[in-house]
Amino acid sequence: MPLPLKQIRAIVGAENLLTTPEELYCYSYDASKMRFIPEGVAFPANASEISELVKLANRERFAVFPRGSGSGMVGACLPRGGGLVIVTNRLNRIIEIDADNMTAVIEPGVITGDFQKAAAEYGLFYPPDPASLPFSSMGGNVAMCAGGPRAVKYGVTRDYLLGLELVLPTGEIVRTGTRTMKGVVGYDITRLMAGSEGTLGIFTRIVLKLIPLPESVRTLTAVFPKLEDAANAVCEILRSRIIPSTMELMDQATIGAVENHLRMGLPTDAEAIILIEVDGPDGVLDGQVERIEQICRKTGASRTDAAKSQADRDRLWKARRGISPALGRIRPGKINEDVTVPRTQIPAFVRAVRALAEKYNLIIVCFGHAGDGNIHTNIMLDRKDADELGRAGEAVEELFRLVLDLGGTLSGEHGIGIAKSPFIEMEVGSEGLRAMWKIKQALDPLNIMNPGKMFVSDRSFLGGSFA
Ligand SMILES: Cc1cc2nc3c(=O)[nH]c(=O)nc-3n(C[C@H](O)[C@H](O)[C@H](O)COP(=O)(O)OP(=O)(O)OC[C@H]3O[C@@H](n4cnc5c(N)ncnc54)[C@H](O)[C@@H]3O)c2cc1C
Repeated sequence: MPLPLKQIRAIVGAENLLTTPEELYCYSYDASKMRFIPEGVAFPANASEISELVKLANRERFAVFPRGSGSGMVGACLPRGGGLVIVTNRLNRIIEIDADNMTAVIEPGVITGDFQKAAAEYGLFYPPDPASLPFSSMGGNVAMCAGGPRAVKYGVTRDYLLGLELVLPTGEIVRTGTRTMKGVVGYDITRLMAGSEGTLGIFTRIVLKLIPLPESVRTLTAVFPKLEDAANAVCEILRSRIIPSTMELMDQATIGAVENHLRMGLPTDAEAIILIEVDGPDGVLDGQVERIEQICRKTGASRTDAAKSQADRDRLWKARRGISPALGRIRPGKINEDVTVPRTQIPAFVRAVRALAEKYNLIIVCFGHAGDGNIHTNIMLDRKDADELGRAGEAVEELFRLVLDLGGTLSGEHGIGIAKSPFIEMEVGSEGLRAMWKIKQALDPLNIMNPGKMFVSDRSFLGGSFA
């Protein structure tokens, strides 16, 4: 059945509905590079327009697909099967920053980085820091429960989420949660929504907790000839009761790729480099840096470098920031997995990945958040090479089994979407998945909100993003 465009236009206005092939094409993909063409793209102005669209979808039986900035890595916002994409970027007001209660009320279309800057003007801090923060939306962050390097110390989006206003898949507008730090009234629907990937409701307001902005930051790097020693250093630093705000690991394959690209004199014979940041009151940070350098040297670092200036800091971050462009020079494409293991298992994980690379004759590069065990594992490939693609597919499944055997999880940040839906049952089990489906059916009896995702097991889309 074609979309009831006349009725949709009557709700959002003709100027806020896209229907031409060229326009629809622009909303057919996200950062996963999968492609599904929608039948229409609507830009509602507020919760009541979204509610009307969703009620219409229930009456006329068409699917709706919430979308923020389209930066997701797993195809979670894509209109698989066709239907109406509902973009929430016109709801983009920061409604309130309450400095005394350290809370904020915002709309979902606010860009993450803009919100962080606005909070900082009040001396407040919103810590979740996905690398996509210059362009990802806060609605998308809540729906994917986004996280970043600072998760080791500060946690992820759900840890700052106090409440929501949302449009249920049946069209009712509900409010969940509180504006207070405590609140135990009824089921915790707010927490259920964090990571719900646009399948259980469309957020129209977000209530967030803020914390005081740290006074200062210090940055250092440590080079480790042996990977095990780097992983030990991470655990030792945390055992010493210092919780760095960032601990980023680059394995040897990553160091080699970045050096090849940037020629900045990185030690390509080292098995690991860790980039560490501490933040907090200015007076304590130099002591913490000194203590971290001692621990790194004691656990086997051949060299440590602490930044003395902003220019030094930028230099230390240059290698970490150079990873993505560097990888592009190895192979034209990659499958990017964001698996997570307990941090003590990082050495076992990286060694097993090396064995996997050898077994399947693939280049696999590991880097990422050592502090929380979220290691981005990139299978480099040329998607036009059918044989390589086939080997990569087998490697992805074996990688997931390995991660689960080590006590880890298939995704620390990027979520399930379309890319990982064939594998979700490996982690949550068939009964677990059935329980999730019962929740979905209870809230969305006609399955109109973002169908074709978590509960569909189609293996034609491998594991992660196809950048
Ligand atoms: C270069 C790059 C770096 C990245 N780095 C990170 C990282 O470090 N950490 C990380 O966690 N992720 C990262 N990502 C992934 C991505 O940015 C996050 O998943 C982000 O949260 C998606 O936000 P978005 O606004 O782009 O959402 P979209 O991609 O538009 O949508 C994502 C999901 O959110 C749902 N959604 C969007 N808006 C709403 C709403 N208002 N109500 C309900 N559901 C909604 C959609 O239906 C979909 O399921 C990265 C992506 C890129 C391209």
